Amino acid sequence: MKLLPKIILKEGREKSLLKGHPWVFSGAVERIEGELTPGDLGEIYSKDGRFMGLGHVNPNSQIIFRLLTYKKEEIGVDFYKERILNSAKIREIFLKDKTDAYRVVNSEGDFLPGLIIDRYGDFFVMQCLTAGIERIKGILIDIISEEFSPRSIYERSDVATRREEGLKEVSGLLSGEEVPDLIEIHEYGAIFKVDIKRGQKTGFYIDQRENRSHLRLVSKDKNVLDCFSYTGGFSIHAGLGGAKSLTLIDSSEYALELAKANIFINHLDEVNHNLIRGDVFNVLRELEPGYDLIILDPPPFVKRKGQLQGALRGYKDINLLAFRLLKEGGLLLTFSCSQHMSWDLFHKTICFSAIDAGKKVQILKQMGHPLDHPVNSFHSEGEYLKGFFLRVLP
Ligand code: SAH
Repeated sequence: MKLLPKIILKEGREKSLLKGHPWVFSGAVERIEGELTPGDLGEIYSKDGRFMGLGHVNPNSQIIFRLLTYKKEEIGVDFYKERILNSAKIREIFLKDKTDAYRVVNSEGDFLPGLIIDRYGDFFVMQCLTAGIERIKGILIDIISEEFSPRSIYERSDVATRREEGLKEVSGLLSGEEVPDLIEIHEYGAIFKVDIKRGQKTGFYIDQRENRSHLRLVSKDKNVLDCFSYTGGFSIHAGLGGAKSLTLIDSSEYALELAKANIFINHLDEVNHNLIRGDVFNVLRELEPGYDLIILDPPPFVKRKGQLQGALRGYKDINLLAFRLLKEGGLLLTFSCSQHMSWDLFHKTICFSAIDAGKKVQILKQMGHPLDHPVNSFHSEGEYLKGFFLRVLP
């Protein structure tokens, strides 16, 4: 095996690695032996010389080491292939007949820090978030091509966090045929047009799939208000479940254009629908009460810990406004996708909104990550999606 650079930790700083957290911050490092180049493989040792694992290193990042394995093993094509296939296998088992769009690899959650692979039918989208993953892009393209035979592999590494790794934002075709402007995916019997080149995230909010699917069962004859609708994910499922009316609010004109197309291809154009382009915070103040079912799926209000106070106000406001618009016995699906918002804090925020709105509320279900967005149990940073399915008591 090639001689790899070594990172030696300060006294006691191996503890979180031993527990299962895959990151080492530069402040935990005592010394480095050999030269660390961003994206290299490196070994990590405790102060007393115990081998702790192998991973990708980046001396330019605060996270200097990201663990790949605790074993002294060869890290090459076979290693990455096994990890990817292992992740893909569990998706196949659970999602095969439900959807053709899912996350094949979820970074730390699948023990491949920095790598996202999303599948949209025969099109694969890759996001390389670290220098380590950037370095092995060629290997990853070969593995995906050989194992999944996609029509295309498209890169959507246009993510701001790449800068923390010393990388530029990039996107574009990596392999295969030109990607059409819009492709179609199938999710629990709904069809969605997805723009993997220009859409938000890698094109679609596949992480909300299971939560959206619940709407089928509860939407019959309901007036539905879908706030932060994007391309209509929740609305389409509500429509297919027999909703009486659909009101969608989003600030993005392009998202609403696609929502309209999605209403059409799902044969829901006969259902009374209203697409409102605007700021949810303002629109909710202007609407008349009388909705049976409201969805609040905002973007992350907290990107850094310091923004938490402002974000709490934001969550409190929209939930309070939604409670006021709901009919008695109405349903609310409310989400936070801010990593810094804990379950407990989100729960409390919703409770305070309900109290201020003078409503008694029942939690029917907690809604979190789907199976294709697994979380490494010791890497809580990977858990971002939190939701409550609520009923307002009559
Ligand atoms: N529920 C969607 C995903 C929502 S993502 C789905 O299932 O696909 C969040 C959406 O909120 C984005 O489409 C973004 O354009 C929109 N958005 C962000 N801030 C907004 C605001 N203040 N008012 C209205 N829409 C907003």
